[in-house]
Amino acid sequence: MIIFDLECSNGHIFEGWFDSADAFEEQKNKGLINCPYCNDTNVKRILSPVRVAHRRKEEPEKMNKQSQDKYIDYEKLYKDFVDYIKNNSEDVGPDFAKEALKMHYGVTEKRNIRGTATEEEEKILREEGIEFFKIPMPKEKDENKH
Ligand SMILES: [Zn+2]
Repeated sequence: MIIFDLECSNGHIFEGWFDSADAFEEQKNKGLINCPYCNDTNVKRILSPVRVAHRRKEEPEKMNKQSQDKYIDYEKLYKDFVDYIKNNSEDVGPDFAKEALKMHYGVTEKRNIRGTATEEEEKILREEGIEFFKIPMPKEKDENKH
């Protein structure tokens, strides 16, 4: 099992797990690897130390738990990331697309916002060339769970 850091053509960086470097190439050439943020299949490996997991791939759950000491704690990283976004952006809720368009046209001052958008709204934002990214946000009530 090999873990590669991958980057899509939109600059999103994510991680991919593969049986081997060849398996990665094969899947990439078939367009089977897509960016979890924008579904882009034009991905490339970015230079990073290759990490090899020695556990069998049938046990991903177990592996994650046992490897916490040796590997990056992604759960914590994700939590910190979510906290950072929450602390550094304004929650506009379902008005996300509306607010993003307003900023785009200079109606309101540019600022960091977060919120939700429908597929239709995302399409409009893309057509307008507005950059945004999607991340899965945890539900508020899960916040204190550990
Ligand atoms: Zn992407």
